[in-house]
Order: sequence, then C-alpha cells, then structure tokens
Amino acid sequence: MRRPINRRYFIGTTAAASLATLAVGASEPRPTGDRRPVAVASGNGLRAVEKAVELARLGYDPLDAAIEGVAIVEADPKDDSVGYGGLPNEDGVVELDAAVMHGPTHGGGSVASLRNIMHPAAVARLVMNRTRHCLLVGEGALRFARAHGFPEVDLLTDHARKVWLHWKETRDPSDDWLPPPKEEVAAYLDDYMKRRVTGTIHCSVLDTHGDLGCATTTSGLSWKIPGRVGDSPILGAGLYLDNEVGSAGSTGVGEANLLHCSSYLVVENMRRGLAPKDAVMEALKRIAQSSIRDPKRRRPDGKTTFNVSFYAVSKSGEFAGGCIYPGGKMAVHDGDSARVVQLDPLFDS
Ligand code: ASP
Repeated sequence: MRRPINRRYFIGTTAAASLATLAVGASEPRPTGDRRPVAVASGNGLRAVEKAVELARLGYDPLDAAIEGVAIVEADPKDDSVGYGGLPNEDGVVELDAAVMHGPTHGGGSVASLRNIMHPAAVARLVMNRTRHCLLVGEGALRFARAHGFPEVDLLTDHARKVWLHWKETRDPSDDWLPPPKEEVAAYLDDYMKRRVTGTIHCSVLDTHGDLGCATTTSGLSWKIPGRVGDSPILGAGLYLDNEVGSAGSTGVGEANLLHCSSYLVVENMRRGLAPKDAVMEALKRIAQSSIRDPKRRRPDGKTTFNVSFYAVSKSGEFAGGCIYPGGKMAVHDGDSARVVQLDPLFDS
C-alpha cells in the first residue's frame, strides 16, 4: 500500500540535507589574523552578517562565511525574494540566480535560472572551485548541482503559490481566469499586488586577514519571463570584488546593473581613491543619468522608473550603502555588533 507523503517530514529532511551540502566546497578554517572582521548585506541580511562575522572570527574563508550567511535567508520560507519561498516566474516556477567571488584567488562562479536547489550560492562556489567555467545555467546547472549531491526541493511554498495565483487571476480582466473571492485572498495577500516584488540578498565579508569574499543570491523579479536572468549571477553587475580594493553588491532592478556593470563600477570608484560612500553615490548618479536616455526607464519627471541599492566595504574596513530612492536598508556588522541602517538615497522621491 502506498503511504501518503508526510510533507512536514519531507521538507524537514530535505532542508537538513540541503544544509549539509553547504559544506561541499568549503575550505578548512585557518588561524585567525589580527584585523576586525566586517560584513555588510542587504536589509534582509541581519542574521547573515551575524553568522558571517561569527565564522570569520573562527578563521573561516571570507567567501565561505558569506555563503553560510546568505544560506540562512535562502532557507527561510518567509523571505519571498530568495531561495526557498521565493516568488516564482510567470509560470509559477521558482528560478534562482546566484554568484560568488573570492578575494584571495580572484575566483568567481555563478548559476542562473536554477530550479529546485535551495542553496544556489553554494553551487556557484562549486562552479568556481570544480570547473574552469564561471557560469552555468538552467538544466546544466541543475545537473551539476545534482552531481555534487545537492538534494532537489520544491521551492514553491503554499504562500508563494497563492500570491502567484492571485497575480495570474487578476492581471488581465479580459482573459478567462476569474478573480478569486476577496475574503479568500485577504489572509495571504498583504500588499503584494501594489508593487512588483523584488528582493535579493548580497553579503560582502572582510575577514581577520583583510581578505574579501562575497555572494549574491535571489529568486529574481517576481513573475519574470521564464529564463530571464538578472544581475545577481553576473560577475561585475550584481557583485564584484578586488582583494586589493574592496567588495560591492547590489539589489533592485537588475537590468540597470547589467547595463552599467554597476558593482564593478563601485569597486573601480574605490580603486580611484573614493571612500565607499562616495563610490556608491557616484555609481548611482551615473545610472540615474544614463538610464533615462531610454524612454522605458524614464519617468515623466525625468528620473528613473526603477530603484537599485548598493552595499560596499573597502579593504580597510570602511563600509557604506546607497540607493536611488529612499527606503533601502543595509545590515552591517562592524566587528562589534550587528544592526540594520537606512541607506542614503540619491533622490528624495
Ligand atoms: N536584482 C534582482 C534581479 O534583478 C532582484 C532584486 O534585487 O530585487 O533579479
């Protein structure tokens, strides 16, 4: 007789198996140096920076520390912008993008449009460590993850499925999908349909030796066209580092970062001698000025239709963040304590 699947047991065990695969490709800790570790992350990353600094203090590689930090958010069903629980593409399928960079070797790896794998940043580290490539996508990335023992998980939570279904049922009044009864959706909808849901976690870590590592991981824009790849898995766009200079990453509408190699731009600004704050603001200004040449990225008041946020840390341990429009947040751990701070905006509205 077939026994029904106990869904809670299934999710519990696959989550545990997924967590176990985080160790695949990680290095042995080394003796610690004498510098104060620093970690910065996007606003949803308070637990990530706490974990990353805890591991950096134990001598873990800065990239391994960043990957363990973002893995907490990747596994969190309540974060609807990253990993498990992420909002799906327009077909209702969760597709993940992630990338990592390692300061001491100037290595990088990434995966895009990856389905069914809870920890894509850890798979990206294996692309870096176990292949001569930088980027694997789709079915190839999934097969690569499977080959390294990553378990497959249904990443679509009930909550994300209901929000997606509501989007599908209400997007076009002339189609054949009937809108759901209002009282039924009130329980799960919050304010989802008022805005395009975006979100990602980036984490940059400076370890006790002054070495850098960073990771960016996301489910991308909600309701994206299947196969759409954003900035997060593109080295130079969604993240970049140079071990001699600093590390930077971004969240927000990824197309703007693809068009400006934005994270590379922030790091290159720091290389020219700008402090992280100025490096970030310079990059935001550049994006704001050139994006509006394209009418589809220009509001009637001449400002951009989209927002992006940056998070940066320099080799010397200075850090800063910024965004085009207000509302962005950054999680920071300065080696003493962790907190979430508001990002300075380029424009007030
Ligand atoms: N940057 C991500 C992307 O475009 C989404 C986000 O950060 O909200 O895929």
